[in-house]
Amino acid sequence: MRHNDHLEQWDRDNFFHPSTHLAEFARGNLPHRVITGGSDCHIEDRDGNRLLDAFAGLYCVNVGYGRPEIADAIADQAKELAYYHSYVGHGTEASITLAKMVLDRAPDHMSKVYFGLSGSDANETNIKLIWYYNNILGRPEKKKIISRWRGYHGSGLMTGSLTGLELFHKKFDLPLAQVLHTEAPYYFRRADQNQTEAEFVAHCVAELEEMIDREGADTIAAFIGEPVLGTGGIVPPPAGYWPAIQAVLDKHDILLVADEVVTGFGRLGSMFGSDHYGMRPDLITIAKGLTSAYAPLSGSIVSDKMWTVLERGTDENGPIGHGWTYSAHPIGAAAGVANLQLIDTLGLIENAGSVGTYLNTTMQDALADHPNVGDIRGEGMLCAVEFMADKEKGTFFDASDKIGPQIAGKLLEQDKVIARAMPQGDILGFAPPFCLTRAEADQVVAATLRAVTSILG
Ligand code: PLP
Repeated sequence: MRHNDHLEQWDRDNFFHPSTHLAEFARGNLPHRVITGGSDCHIEDRDGNRLLDAFAGLYCVNVGYGRPEIADAIADQAKELAYYHSYVGHGTEASITLAKMVLDRAPDHMSKVYFGLSGSDANETNIKLIWYYNNILGRPEKKKIISRWRGYHGSGLMTGSLTGLELFHKKFDLPLAQVLHTEAPYYFRRADQNQTEAEFVAHCVAELEEMIDREGADTIAAFIGEPVLGTGGIVPPPAGYWPAIQAVLDKHDILLVADEVVTGFGRLGSMFGSDHYGMRPDLITIAKGLTSAYAPLSGSIVSDKMWTVLERGTDENGPIGHGWTYSAHPIGAAAGVANLQLIDTLGLIENAGSVGTYLNTTMQDALADHPNVGDIRGEGMLCAVEFMADKEKGTFFDASDKIGPQIAGKLLEQDKVIARAMPQGDILGFAPPFCLTRAEADQVVAATLRAVTSILG
């Protein structure tokens, strides 16, 4: 173990941590934790703790930690050729191979993949492509983007605007004017608790139709959504939601962006959430699961329909004015190729489906009757437990009570299990690596029950 006695001070003095209460961290009131290693579903920290990571980092280390196959592919690529750009027709064997592997796995109507570095930049790319597309089609007014409250699409200027969580807007002068937010498909939190699931879907559709009528379909370019709401609370859609939304979009010639940063490459137990829910996207955003986070890499998968127009655009206007220095970085691409191969070899998507279902069922069995557990939901290797102050009265805890963070803290302290207190609401989120075993799922559930009982009785 490497020990540098100054590390904590250096951390607090120099390091600007993302998504962190900056003042509390600088004052020493938030823990500083140095992660030193990991294997399968576990990570280790500098103090010698071994923790079961039931959130796979930020739901991204899908194949689990410490995979030598991916590490070796990265090292080989770095030794052979660490970098060359991908502008003006250049590429590497890794980037070209990965593009083919992505398209082989994507829905049939998809045509090409543009590689970026993060989910945020991939969604920025998507919006630029959508605007370009409508300009080439001679529809300069058709530019607004509809997103959902509680959607998460990144934290850039446009993507932070698309994100429908208050924390990402407040004091940043966001959202930008071209972005509109519609109802989240969050059946558990529906305003009218008497609505059936089908009635609630009809309500979401009516809200969307009203927004389109109000704004004018000729001003609306696209709708963006995660197949399952992720950071907004891990909320699978009510039955029939996506086909009903898709029908509205088709009727008004509005493009669909499926943000599959979390769901892409197996988290739901199927390759893409778009297949899982019968969506027919024009663009698919991919990131996390593309490399299992062994190196930063994202992508925008473009449909045949859009690609034809993009080609026409370059015939009329010259090369597309979009690209990053690190687009299709060879090291990321090598990690991606090795990662997708490993997922196939180990049958990890099947495991995500079967052990994910087991995790959800055992969580239901253990916690559904607890008086403060309002909802347990999930799909594949995604699971969430939502807490309520009073189930009978239908009331929730005050945010200042920090019930979610308290339970996540207790889980870590008592049983060394990492879950994520989701940023809005008292929701404990689980998104383990796909290699989770049934025994580990049992451990996660038992530890959660203990943590919930410790905090709420
Ligand atoms: N889209 C979704 C659905 C995400 O969950 C995230 C990140 O959690 C992003 C986009 C943004 O990705 P990144 O943090 O890599 O920019």
